[in-house]
Amino acid sequence: MTASGPREKCGVVGVSLGDRASARPLYYALYALQHRGQESAGIVTHDGFQQHSHVSMGLVGDAFDEADLAGLNGSVGIGHVRYPTAGSVDTSCAQPFSVSFKSGSLGLSHNGNLVNAAEIRDELAGLGHAFTSDGDTEVIAHDLARNLLEEDLVRAVKHTMRRIHGSYSLTIMHDDTVMGVRDPEGNRPLCIGELDEGYILASESAAIDVLDGELVRDVRPGELVILQPDGADFDAYQLFERERSAHCFFEHVYFARPDSAMDGHLVYDVRRELGRQLWAESGVDSDVVMPVPDSGRAFASGYAEAAQEEGADVEFAEGLMKNRYVGRTFIMPTQDARERAVRLKLNPISDVVEGRTVTLIDDSIVRGTTSNQLVQLMRDVGAEGVHVRIGAPPIVAPCYMGIDMATREELIAADRTVEEIREEIGADSLGYLSIDAVAEALSTSRADLCLGCVTGEYPYDIDGETTDRDVERPVIGGGAEAAPSDD
Ligand code: AMP
Repeated sequence: MTASGPREKCGVVGVSLGDRASARPLYYALYALQHRGQESAGIVTHDGFQQHSHVSMGLVGDAFDEADLAGLNGSVGIGHVRYPTAGSVDTSCAQPFSVSFKSGSLGLSHNGNLVNAAEIRDELAGLGHAFTSDGDTEVIAHDLARNLLEEDLVRAVKHTMRRIHGSYSLTIMHDDTVMGVRDPEGNRPLCIGELDEGYILASESAAIDVLDGELVRDVRPGELVILQPDGADFDAYQLFERERSAHCFFEHVYFARPDSAMDGHLVYDVRRELGRQLWAESGVDSDVVMPVPDSGRAFASGYAEAAQEEGADVEFAEGLMKNRYVGRTFIMPTQDARERAVRLKLNPISDVVEGRTVTLIDDSIVRGTTSNQLVQLMRDVGAEGVHVRIGAPPIVAPCYMGIDMATREELIAADRTVEEIREEIGADSLGYLSIDAVAEALSTSRADLCLGCVTGEYPYDIDGETTDRDVERPVIGGGAEAAPSDD
Protein backbone atom coordinates (compact mmCIF):
# COMPACT_ATOMS: atom_id res chain seq x y z
CA MET A 1 0.00 0.00 0.00
CA THR A 2 1.02 3.61 -0.33
CA ALA A 3 1.39 6.29 2.27
CA SER A 4 -1.96 7.74 1.28
CA GLY A 5 -3.85 4.47 1.57
CA PRO A 6 -6.24 3.81 4.43
CA ARG A 7 -4.47 3.81 7.76
CA GLU A 8 -6.68 2.90 10.61
CA LYS A 9 -6.00 3.54 14.23
CA CYS A 10 -8.74 1.83 16.07
CA GLY A 11 -9.96 0.24 19.26
CA VAL A 12 -11.36 -3.26 19.52
CA VAL A 13 -13.21 -5.16 22.23
CA GLY A 14 -14.94 -8.51 22.72
CA VAL A 15 -16.80 -10.04 25.68
CA SER A 16 -18.33 -13.31 26.77
CA LEU A 17 -20.53 -12.87 29.83
CA GLY A 18 -22.38 -16.08 30.59
CA ASP A 19 -25.93 -15.06 31.51
CA ARG A 20 -25.48 -11.33 31.35
CA ALA A 21 -26.33 -9.11 28.38
CA SER A 22 -23.23 -7.90 26.58
CA ALA A 23 -24.47 -4.70 24.89
CA ARG A 24 -23.99 -2.29 27.76
CA PRO A 25 -20.58 -3.57 28.90
CA LEU A 26 -19.42 -3.35 25.28
CA TYR A 27 -20.79 0.17 25.04
CA TYR A 28 -18.92 1.24 28.20
CA ALA A 29 -15.75 -0.43 26.99
CA LEU A 30 -15.99 1.48 23.70
CA TYR A 31 -16.35 4.69 25.67
CA ALA A 32 -13.04 3.85 27.37
CA LEU A 33 -11.46 3.33 23.94
CA GLN A 34 -12.93 6.44 22.34
CA HIS A 35 -9.49 8.07 22.02
CA ARG A 36 -8.52 5.30 19.58
CA GLY A 37 -11.13 6.32 17.03
CA GLN A 38 -13.83 8.94 16.69
CA GLU A 39 -15.12 8.38 13.18
CA SER A 40 -17.49 5.47 13.79
CA ALA A 41 -18.52 3.03 16.49
CA GLY A 42 -20.20 -0.35 16.35
CA ILE A 43 -21.26 -3.41 18.29
CA VAL A 44 -22.21 -6.88 17.04
CA THR A 45 -23.70 -9.37 19.50
CA HIS A 46 -24.91 -12.96 19.25
CA ASP A 47 -27.83 -14.42 21.20
CA GLY A 48 -27.12 -18.10 20.52
CA PHE A 49 -29.31 -18.08 17.40
CA GLN A 50 -28.40 -15.03 15.42
CA GLN A 51 -26.26 -11.91 15.23
CA HIS A 52 -27.44 -8.39 16.06
CA SER A 53 -25.51 -5.42 14.77
CA HIS A 54 -25.51 -1.68 15.18
CA VAL A 55 -22.80 0.38 13.52
CA SER A 56 -22.95 4.13 13.15
CA MET A 57 -20.80 7.12 12.27
CA GLY A 58 -19.73 9.43 15.08
CA LEU A 59 -18.69 9.22 18.71
CA VAL A 60 -19.78 6.32 20.91
CA GLY A 61 -22.19 8.52 22.85
CA ASP A 62 -23.91 9.61 19.63
CA ALA A 63 -23.77 6.28 17.80
CA PHE A 64 -26.09 4.36 20.15
CA ASP A 65 -29.37 5.23 21.82
CA GLU A 66 -31.35 3.15 24.31
CA ALA A 67 -33.30 1.36 21.58
CA ASP A 68 -30.10 0.44 19.72
CA LEU A 69 -28.62 -1.08 22.85
CA ALA A 70 -31.85 -2.89 23.69
CA GLY A 71 -31.79 -4.53 20.26
CA LEU A 72 -28.28 -5.90 20.72
CA ASN A 73 -29.29 -9.17 22.38
CA GLY A 74 -27.00 -11.83 23.67
CA SER A 75 -24.27 -12.34 26.23
CA VAL A 76 -21.40 -12.36 23.73
CA GLY A 77 -20.32 -9.62 21.39
CA ILE A 78 -17.57 -7.52 19.88
CA GLY A 79 -17.18 -3.79 19.37
CA HIS A 80 -15.08 -1.28 17.50
CA VAL A 81 -14.20 2.41 17.32
CA ARG A 82 -12.60 3.59 14.12
CA TYR A 83 -10.69 6.48 12.76
CA PRO A 84 -9.57 6.32 9.16
CA THR A 85 -7.41 9.06 7.64
CA ALA A 86 -8.01 8.20 4.05
CA GLY A 87 -10.02 5.74 2.02
CA SER A 88 -13.73 5.52 2.50
CA VAL A 89 -15.12 7.73 5.21
CA ASP A 90 -18.55 6.18 5.27
CA THR A 91 -20.40 3.36 6.93
CA SER A 92 -19.23 0.76 4.42
CA CYS A 93 -15.88 0.81 6.23
CA ALA A 94 -17.27 1.17 9.73
CA GLN A 95 -16.88 -1.87 11.95
CA PRO A 96 -17.39 -4.50 13.31
CA PHE A 97 -17.72 -6.09 9.93
CA SER A 98 -20.37 -8.81 10.02
CA VAL A 99 -21.38 -11.43 7.54
CA SER A 100 -23.35 -14.67 7.43
CA PHE A 101 -22.10 -17.54 5.38
CA LYS A 102 -22.59 -21.30 4.99
CA SER A 103 -20.80 -22.31 8.16
CA GLY A 104 -22.29 -19.63 10.40
CA SER A 105 -22.05 -15.94 11.16
CA LEU A 106 -18.87 -13.96 11.54
CA GLY A 107 -18.11 -10.58 13.08
CA LEU A 108 -14.73 -8.90 12.97
CA SER A 109 -13.08 -5.85 14.53
CA HIS A 110 -9.62 -4.88 13.40
CA ASN A 111 -6.94 -2.55 14.71
CA GLY A 112 -3.89 -2.30 12.51
CA ASN A 113 -3.12 -2.44 8.87
CA LEU A 114 -2.43 -5.25 6.45
CA VAL A 115 0.30 -4.82 3.91
CA ASN A 116 -0.95 -7.46 1.48
CA ALA A 117 -4.74 -7.04 1.68
CA ALA A 118 -5.02 -6.11 -2.01
CA GLU A 119 -3.39 -9.36 -3.11
CA ILE A 120 -5.69 -11.49 -0.96
CA ARG A 121 -8.72 -9.48 -2.07
CA ASP A 122 -7.84 -10.03 -5.74
CA GLU A 123 -7.44 -13.72 -5.18
CA LEU A 124 -10.72 -14.08 -3.28
CA ALA A 125 -12.58 -11.91 -5.79
CA GLY A 126 -11.31 -14.26 -8.50
CA LEU A 127 -12.82 -17.12 -6.52
CA GLY A 128 -16.21 -15.41 -6.48
CA HIS A 129 -16.17 -13.48 -3.21
CA ALA A 130 -18.04 -10.19 -3.46
CA PHE A 131 -16.71 -7.27 -1.40
CA THR A 132 -18.82 -4.42 -0.09
CA SER A 133 -16.07 -2.15 1.24
CA ASP A 134 -12.47 -1.31 0.43
CA GLY A 135 -11.12 -2.07 3.91
CA ASP A 136 -8.73 -4.77 5.11
CA THR A 137 -11.19 -6.16 7.58
CA GLU A 138 -13.57 -7.54 5.02
CA VAL A 139 -10.65 -9.29 3.38
CA ILE A 140 -9.78 -11.04 6.64
CA ALA A 141 -13.44 -11.93 7.20
CA HIS A 142 -13.82 -13.52 3.77
CA ASP A 143 -10.58 -15.42 4.05
CA LEU A 144 -11.57 -16.75 7.44
CA ALA A 145 -15.09 -17.60 6.28
CA ARG A 146 -13.61 -19.63 3.46
CA ASN A 147 -11.24 -21.52 5.75
CA LEU A 148 -14.04 -22.23 8.21
CA LEU A 149 -15.87 -24.21 5.54
CA GLU A 150 -13.18 -26.87 5.76
CA GLU A 151 -11.34 -26.42 9.03
CA ASP A 152 -12.04 -26.07 12.73
CA LEU A 153 -11.84 -22.65 14.34
CA VAL A 154 -8.22 -22.78 15.48
CA ARG A 155 -6.92 -24.16 12.18
CA ALA A 156 -8.98 -21.70 10.17
CA VAL A 157 -7.60 -18.73 12.12
CA LYS A 158 -4.08 -20.06 11.79
CA HIS A 159 -4.54 -20.52 8.07
CA THR A 160 -5.71 -16.93 7.68
CA MET A 161 -2.89 -15.63 9.87
CA ARG A 162 -0.42 -17.39 7.63
CA ARG A 163 -1.81 -15.52 4.64
CA ILE A 164 -2.16 -12.01 6.02
CA HIS A 165 0.91 -9.84 6.45
CA GLY A 166 0.97 -6.68 8.49
CA SER A 167 -0.23 -5.48 11.85
CA TYR A 168 -3.45 -6.66 13.38
CA SER A 169 -5.15 -7.03 16.70
CA LEU A 170 -8.54 -8.58 16.05
CA THR A 171 -11.61 -9.48 17.99
CA ILE A 172 -13.62 -12.04 16.09
CA MET A 173 -17.02 -13.57 16.75
CA HIS A 174 -17.91 -16.84 15.06
CA ASP A 175 -21.53 -17.61 15.99
CA ASP A 176 -21.44 -17.24 19.79
CA THR A 177 -17.69 -17.72 20.20
CA VAL A 178 -15.59 -14.60 20.77
CA MET A 179 -11.85 -14.68 20.03
CA GLY A 180 -8.89 -12.35 20.08
CA VAL A 181 -5.83 -12.53 17.86
CA ARG A 182 -2.62 -10.55 17.84
CA ASP A 183 -0.28 -10.56 14.87
CA PRO A 184 2.94 -12.60 15.27
CA GLU A 185 4.97 -9.44 15.88
CA GLY A 186 2.47 -8.04 18.40
CA ASN A 187 2.44 -4.63 16.73
CA ARG A 188 -0.89 -3.40 18.10
CA PRO A 189 -1.95 -4.03 21.70
CA LEU A 190 -4.59 -6.47 22.92
CA CYS A 191 -5.23 -7.69 26.45
CA ILE A 192 -7.46 -10.09 28.39
CA GLY A 193 -9.47 -9.12 31.43
CA GLU A 194 -11.59 -10.99 33.93
CA LEU A 195 -14.99 -9.56 34.80
CA ASP A 196 -17.48 -10.62 37.47
CA GLU A 197 -19.54 -12.50 34.91
CA GLY A 198 -17.00 -13.49 32.28
CA TYR A 199 -14.05 -12.34 30.20
CA ILE A 200 -13.14 -9.41 28.00
CA LEU A 201 -10.60 -8.81 25.24
CA ALA A 202 -9.70 -5.17 24.61
CA SER A 203 -7.13 -2.95 22.93
CA GLU A 204 -6.33 -1.32 26.25
CA SER A 205 -6.74 -2.22 29.89
CA ALA A 206 -8.63 1.02 30.56
CA ALA A 207 -11.62 -0.75 28.97
CA ILE A 208 -11.32 -3.49 31.60
CA ASP A 209 -11.07 -0.95 34.42
CA VAL A 210 -14.26 0.78 33.38
CA LEU A 211 -16.11 -2.53 33.90
CA ASP A 212 -14.47 -3.05 37.31
CA GLY A 213 -12.56 -6.02 35.91
CA GLU A 214 -9.01 -7.26 36.44
CA LEU A 215 -6.33 -7.28 33.79
CA VAL A 216 -5.28 -10.92 33.35
CA ARG A 217 -2.46 -10.37 30.84
CA ASP A 218 -1.64 -9.18 27.36
CA VAL A 219 -2.50 -11.43 24.45
CA ARG A 220 0.91 -12.63 23.26
CA PRO A 221 2.18 -11.91 19.77
CA GLY A 222 0.93 -14.70 17.48
CA GLU A 223 -1.57 -15.94 20.05
CA LEU A 224 -5.24 -16.81 19.61
CA VAL A 225 -7.44 -16.49 22.70
CA ILE A 226 -10.91 -18.04 22.63
CA LEU A 227 -13.43 -16.96 25.24
CA GLN A 228 -15.72 -19.81 26.22
CA PRO A 229 -19.33 -18.98 25.27
CA ASP A 230 -20.52 -19.55 28.87
CA GLY A 231 -18.05 -16.92 30.11
CA ALA A 232 -16.40 -19.41 32.49
CA ASP A 233 -12.86 -19.30 31.12
CA PHE A 234 -10.69 -18.76 28.06
CA ASP A 235 -8.41 -21.00 26.02
CA ALA A 236 -5.14 -19.82 24.53
CA TYR A 237 -3.26 -21.12 21.49
CA GLN A 238 0.22 -19.93 20.59
CA LEU A 239 -0.16 -20.22 16.81
CA PHE A 240 2.98 -18.42 15.69
CA GLU A 241 6.21 -17.77 17.48
CA ARG A 242 8.73 -15.26 16.17
CA GLU A 243 12.17 -14.45 17.47
CA ARG A 244 11.47 -10.76 17.47
CA SER A 245 8.41 -8.75 18.30
CA ALA A 246 7.53 -5.37 16.80
CA HIS A 247 5.58 -3.53 19.47
CA CYS A 248 4.66 -0.02 18.42
CA PHE A 249 6.55 2.39 20.71
CA PHE A 250 4.25 5.22 19.65
CA GLU A 251 1.34 3.58 21.49
CA HIS A 252 3.27 4.38 24.68
CA VAL A 253 4.39 7.82 23.57
CA TYR A 254 1.13 9.19 22.26
CA PHE A 255 -1.66 6.91 21.31
CA ALA A 256 -2.67 4.86 24.34
CA ARG A 257 -4.32 6.23 27.45
CA PRO A 258 -1.83 6.89 30.25
CA ASP A 259 -3.97 4.83 32.63
CA SER A 260 -3.67 1.72 30.45
CA ALA A 261 -1.11 -1.01 31.08
CA MET A 262 0.39 -2.39 27.91
CA ASP A 263 2.93 -5.16 27.35
CA GLY A 264 3.83 -5.09 31.00
CA HIS A 265 4.07 -1.34 31.50
CA LEU A 266 1.72 1.31 32.77
CA VAL A 267 1.73 3.89 29.99
CA TYR A 268 1.82 6.77 32.50
CA ASP A 269 4.99 5.38 34.11
CA VAL A 270 6.63 4.99 30.71
CA ARG A 271 5.85 8.58 29.80
CA ARG A 272 7.17 9.89 33.10
CA GLU A 273 10.34 7.86 32.66
CA LEU A 274 10.72 9.18 29.13
CA GLY A 275 10.40 12.68 30.58
CA ARG A 276 13.16 11.91 33.09
CA GLN A 277 15.37 10.61 30.28
CA LEU A 278 14.63 13.72 28.28
CA TRP A 279 16.04 15.82 31.10
CA ALA A 280 19.08 13.51 31.36
CA GLU A 281 19.73 13.71 27.62
CA SER A 282 18.93 17.31 26.81
CA GLY A 283 17.88 19.20 29.95
CA VAL A 284 18.02 22.97 29.64
CA ASP A 285 17.83 25.70 32.30
CA SER A 286 14.52 27.56 32.38
CA ASP A 287 12.15 29.15 34.89
CA VAL A 288 9.20 26.98 34.11
CA VAL A 289 8.49 23.56 32.59
CA MET A 290 5.16 23.46 30.84
CA PRO A 291 3.34 20.52 29.23
CA VAL A 292 1.43 20.74 25.99
CA PRO A 293 -1.86 19.25 27.18
CA ASP A 294 -2.90 16.56 27.34
CA SER A 295 -0.29 14.25 25.92
CA GLY A 296 2.76 16.20 27.11
CA ARG A 297 1.73 16.18 30.75
CA ALA A 298 3.32 12.95 32.02
CA PHE A 299 6.53 13.70 30.12
CA ALA A 300 6.70 17.19 31.61
CA SER A 301 6.15 16.01 35.17
CA GLY A 302 8.95 13.41 34.80
CA TYR A 303 11.22 15.99 33.21
CA ALA A 304 10.57 18.59 35.92
CA GLU A 305 10.97 16.04 38.70
CA ALA A 306 14.35 14.90 37.34
CA ALA A 307 15.43 18.53 36.95
CA GLN A 308 14.42 19.41 40.51
CA GLU A 309 16.18 16.33 41.89
CA GLU A 310 19.37 17.64 40.33
CA GLY A 311 18.84 20.97 42.04
CA ALA A 312 17.47 22.93 39.08
CA ASP A 313 15.44 25.92 40.22
CA VAL A 314 12.48 25.28 37.95
CA GLU A 315 8.74 25.31 38.44
CA PHE A 316 6.33 22.82 36.86
CA ALA A 317 3.26 24.75 35.74
CA GLU A 318 0.23 24.30 33.52
CA GLY A 319 0.52 27.38 31.38
CA LEU A 320 -1.58 26.18 28.50
CA MET A 321 -5.26 25.46 28.82
CA LYS A 322 -6.93 23.09 26.44
CA ASN A 323 -10.43 23.51 25.12
CA ARG A 324 -11.55 19.91 25.22
CA TYR A 325 -14.42 20.48 22.82
CA VAL A 326 -12.19 21.19 19.86
CA GLY A 327 -11.54 18.14 17.70
CA ARG A 328 -8.14 16.91 16.74
CA THR A 329 -5.99 19.47 14.97
CA PHE A 330 -4.15 16.69 13.36
CA ILE A 331 -6.84 15.60 11.01
CA MET A 332 -7.88 19.00 9.70
CA PRO A 333 -7.91 19.03 5.91
CA THR A 334 -5.76 22.11 5.31
CA GLN A 335 -2.73 23.67 6.95
CA ASP A 336 -4.72 26.85 7.52
CA ALA A 337 -7.45 24.94 9.36
CA ARG A 338 -4.83 23.09 11.41
CA GLU A 339 -3.21 26.35 12.51
CA ARG A 340 -6.54 27.87 13.45
CA ALA A 341 -7.47 24.74 15.37
CA VAL A 342 -4.27 24.79 17.44
CA ARG A 343 -5.14 28.33 18.48
CA LEU A 344 -8.73 27.38 19.25
CA LYS A 345 -7.59 24.40 21.25
CA LEU A 346 -4.74 25.83 23.32
CA ASN A 347 -4.71 29.14 25.15
CA PRO A 348 -1.84 30.39 27.32
CA ILE A 349 -2.16 31.62 30.89
CA SER A 350 -0.08 34.71 30.45
CA ASP A 351 0.84 35.21 34.12
CA VAL A 352 2.67 31.88 34.10
CA VAL A 353 4.62 32.84 31.02
CA GLU A 354 5.30 36.57 31.09
CA GLY A 355 8.89 37.56 31.71
CA ARG A 356 10.05 33.97 32.11
CA THR A 357 11.98 31.37 30.20
CA VAL A 358 9.76 28.46 29.31
CA THR A 359 10.46 24.83 28.39
CA LEU A 360 7.51 23.45 26.46
CA ILE A 361 7.19 19.66 26.54
CA ASP A 362 5.21 17.68 24.00
CA ASP A 363 5.17 14.00 23.12
CA SER A 364 5.96 14.38 19.44
CA ILE A 365 6.36 16.71 16.50
CA VAL A 366 4.72 15.52 13.31
CA ARG A 367 4.18 18.35 10.84
CA GLY A 368 5.46 20.97 13.25
CA THR A 369 2.22 22.96 13.24
CA THR A 370 1.60 22.68 16.99
CA SER A 371 5.14 23.54 18.10
CA ASN A 372 5.43 26.40 15.66
CA GLN A 373 2.19 27.96 16.85
CA LEU A 374 2.91 27.43 20.52
CA VAL A 375 6.41 28.92 20.43
CA GLN A 376 4.94 32.02 18.79
CA LEU A 377 2.11 32.13 21.36
CA MET A 378 4.59 31.96 24.23
CA ARG A 379 6.49 34.89 22.77
CA ASP A 380 3.26 36.83 22.18
CA VAL A 381 2.39 36.61 25.88
CA GLY A 382 5.83 37.72 26.98
CA ALA A 383 8.06 34.65 27.32
CA GLU A 384 11.73 35.66 27.52
CA GLY A 385 12.89 32.43 26.00
CA VAL A 386 11.19 29.33 24.62
CA HIS A 387 12.80 25.90 24.63
CA VAL A 388 11.07 22.84 23.22
CA ARG A 389 11.66 19.26 24.39
CA ILE A 390 10.03 16.27 22.75
CA GLY A 391 9.43 12.89 24.39
CA ALA A 392 10.07 10.89 21.23
CA PRO A 393 12.73 10.71 18.53
CA PRO A 394 12.18 12.75 15.33
CA ILE A 395 9.41 11.26 13.19
CA VAL A 396 11.04 10.87 9.82
CA ALA A 397 8.78 8.42 7.98
CA PRO A 398 5.10 7.51 7.76
CA CYS A 399 3.35 4.80 9.74
CA TYR A 400 1.91 1.95 7.68
CA MET A 401 0.95 -0.08 10.70
CA GLY A 402 -2.21 1.55 11.91
CA ILE A 403 -1.49 5.03 13.28
CA ASP A 404 -2.38 7.92 11.08
CA MET A 405 0.64 10.15 10.83
CA ALA A 406 1.33 12.30 7.86
CA THR A 407 2.83 11.59 4.48
CA ARG A 408 6.60 11.79 4.20
CA GLU A 409 6.37 15.18 2.45
CA GLU A 410 4.41 16.60 5.38
CA LEU A 411 6.72 15.35 8.12
CA ILE A 412 8.89 18.21 9.31
CA ALA A 413 11.73 15.87 10.34
CA ALA A 414 11.73 13.82 7.13
CA ASP A 415 14.35 15.99 5.46
CA ARG A 416 15.57 18.40 8.13
CA THR A 417 18.20 18.30 10.84
CA VAL A 418 17.18 19.05 14.43
CA GLU A 419 18.78 22.49 14.05
CA GLU A 420 16.73 23.17 10.91
CA ILE A 421 13.55 22.11 12.71
CA ARG A 422 14.43 24.36 15.63
CA GLU A 423 14.76 27.24 13.24
CA GLU A 424 11.51 26.36 11.51
CA ILE A 425 9.49 26.29 14.73
CA GLY A 426 11.25 29.39 16.06
CA ALA A 427 12.44 27.91 19.38
CA ASP A 428 15.59 28.96 21.24
CA SER A 429 16.55 25.32 21.57
CA LEU A 430 15.04 21.97 20.62
CA GLY A 431 15.73 18.51 21.98
CA TYR A 432 14.33 15.12 21.06
CA LEU A 433 14.67 11.83 22.90
CA SER A 434 16.98 9.08 21.62
CA ILE A 435 15.66 5.76 20.36
CA ASP A 436 17.76 3.98 23.00
CA ALA A 437 16.03 5.91 25.77
CA VAL A 438 12.67 4.74 24.43
CA ALA A 439 13.80 1.09 24.35
CA GLU A 440 15.20 1.41 27.85
CA ALA A 441 12.01 2.91 29.27
CA LEU A 442 10.09 -0.03 27.80
CA SER A 443 12.71 -2.46 29.19
CA THR A 444 13.18 -3.95 25.77
CA SER A 445 15.67 -3.79 22.94
CA ARG A 446 15.36 -1.76 19.77
CA ALA A 447 15.12 -5.06 17.92
CA ASP A 448 11.75 -5.83 19.51
CA LEU A 449 10.09 -2.53 18.68
CA CYS A 450 8.48 -1.20 15.53
CA LEU A 451 10.54 1.93 14.90
CA GLY A 452 9.43 2.51 11.32
CA CYS A 453 8.36 6.13 11.85
CA VAL A 454 11.66 7.13 13.48
CA THR A 455 14.09 5.08 11.39
CA GLY A 456 12.28 4.62 8.06
CA GLU A 457 12.89 0.86 8.40
CA TYR A 458 9.90 -1.33 9.04
CA PRO A 459 9.36 -4.75 10.61
CA TYR A 460 7.11 -5.73 7.69
CA ASP A 461 7.71 -5.99 3.96
CA ILE A 462 6.13 -2.81 2.60
CA ASP A 463 6.25 -1.88 -1.08
CA GLY A 464 8.83 0.81 -1.70
CA GLU A 465 10.21 0.80 1.87
CA THR A 466 13.10 -0.97 3.55
CA THR A 467 12.71 -3.48 6.33
CA ASP A 468 14.80 -3.83 9.49
CA ARG A 469 14.62 -7.61 9.66
CA ASP A 470 14.29 -10.87 7.83
CA VAL A 471 10.62 -10.94 6.89
CA GLU A 472 8.89 -13.15 4.42
CA ARG A 473 5.76 -11.82 2.84
CA PRO A 474 3.25 -14.53 1.98
CA VAL A 475 2.92 -15.06 -1.75
CA ILE A 476 -0.80 -14.85 -2.46
CA GLY A 477 -2.38 -16.03 -5.67
CA GLY A 478 -0.59 -17.85 -8.46
CA GLY A 479 -0.90 -21.03 -6.42
CA ALA A 480 2.30 -20.65 -4.39
CA GLU A 481 1.73 -19.86 -0.76
CA ALA A 482 4.61 -18.78 1.43
CA ALA A 483 6.40 -21.52 3.27
CA PRO A 484 4.44 -21.97 6.50
CA SER A 485 7.39 -21.18 8.71
CA ASP A 486 5.50 -21.55 11.98
CA ASP A 487 3.64 -24.78 11.41
P1 AMP B 1 2.04 18.50 14.54
O1 AMP B 1 1.33 19.71 14.99
O2 AMP B 1 1.64 18.07 13.16
O3 AMP B 1 3.53 18.57 14.69
O4 AMP B 1 1.56 17.30 15.47
C1 AMP B 1 2.07 17.16 16.74
C2 AMP B 1 0.97 17.18 17.74
O5 AMP B 1 -0.03 16.23 17.39
C3 AMP B 1 1.48 16.80 19.11
O6 AMP B 1 0.91 17.69 20.04
C4 AMP B 1 1.00 15.39 19.34
O7 AMP B 1 0.54 15.21 20.66
C5 AMP B 1 -0.13 15.20 18.37
N1 AMP B 1 -0.03 13.93 17.62
C6 AMP B 1 1.04 13.17 17.41
N2 AMP B 1 0.73 12.09 16.66
C7 AMP B 1 -0.59 12.16 16.41
C8 AMP B 1 -1.51 11.33 15.71
N3 AMP B 1 -1.12 10.21 15.12
N4 AMP B 1 -2.79 11.74 15.65
C9 AMP B 1 -3.19 12.87 16.24
N5 AMP B 1 -2.36 13.69 16.92
C10 AMP B 1 -1.07 13.35 17.01
